[in-house]
Amino acid sequence: MIIDCHCDALFKMWSHHIDFDDGVFLDVNYQKWMESPVKVQCFAIYVPEHIPTEAKFSVALHMIDLFFEKIIKPFSNIQFIQTKEDIERLKPNERGAMLTLEGLDCIGAELYKLRILLRLGVKMIGMSWNQANLAVDGIGEPRGSGLSSLGRRVIQLANQQKVWVDLAHISEQGFDEAVELSDYLIVSHANSRSVCAHSRNLTEQQVRKIIDNNGLIGITFVENFVTTNNNATINDLLRHISYFLSAGGEDHLVFGSDFDGTDRFVDNLSSISQYSFLEAALKQRFSASIIQKISYQNFIKHFPD
Ligand SMILES: [Zn+2]
Repeated sequence: MIIDCHCDALFKMWSHHIDFDDGVFLDVNYQKWMESPVKVQCFAIYVPEHIPTEAKFSVALHMIDLFFEKIIKPFSNIQFIQTKEDIERLKPNERGAMLTLEGLDCIGAELYKLRILLRLGVKMIGMSWNQANLAVDGIGEPRGSGLSSLGRRVIQLANQQKVWVDLAHISEQGFDEAVELSDYLIVSHANSRSVCAHSRNLTEQQVRKIIDNNGLIGITFVENFVTTNNNATINDLLRHISYFLSAGGEDHLVFGSDFDGTDRFVDNLSSISQYSFLEAALKQRFSASIIQKISYQNFIKHFPD
């Protein structure tokens, strides 16, 4: 059993007008999911940069509509996940789908829009994508600013409403500030910068802060987050897991594949159905109790309630 904290299937469904049971194009589609060991999959709302500001909120709502119309409604064995109990209640044949937000661009300066998204079931607020928004700068923004007063109000709201604050993509300054303020911390898709020097990966200090503040780190399968060589293998990915474990992260690791977020993944780990190859490799290397923690127990234990 696996829980995966991040994929961009909704974005691909929205941008390419494809259904969830499309057989080929999606890394996470109905058939591949059912063949996989993944019990719960998080689906991110990601509104791309090129959408005009005034249209962004309606695109976010469109993706939420796709989530319900194309993923939840047609498949009686897929349940909408909003609480820890929703996960624990899943029957053996059932899977869970959870809504997350990747970047606050779509709310502009209006907190009421975020409150609406939370009412619709969003359980994880990604503070930024790579660029700046009105809450905080992303890691790709040269000035690298931290939280605005809006960003601070977002985190207050997240704490009150008991939802995760996701620090994937955030600037280093924003990271340091948000870590201090958030009750429910996650970096949904990033690896270790000590193992692979990518600006989206976490520095040693950031890893320390996530662990010390009882947050979660979602191991991601994007090729250039795993190795600077051309071909990333599952063994390369295991080096990140070993690093995090040696840093004391046993209770703070989860998976955040980023399927459908890029074209280049670790070999034999480019769609949800290939999670079985990762499971087999984990068994060669780590104890059953560590594998269970990373695969699903840490996520359930940290679920805000
Ligand atoms: Zn991302």
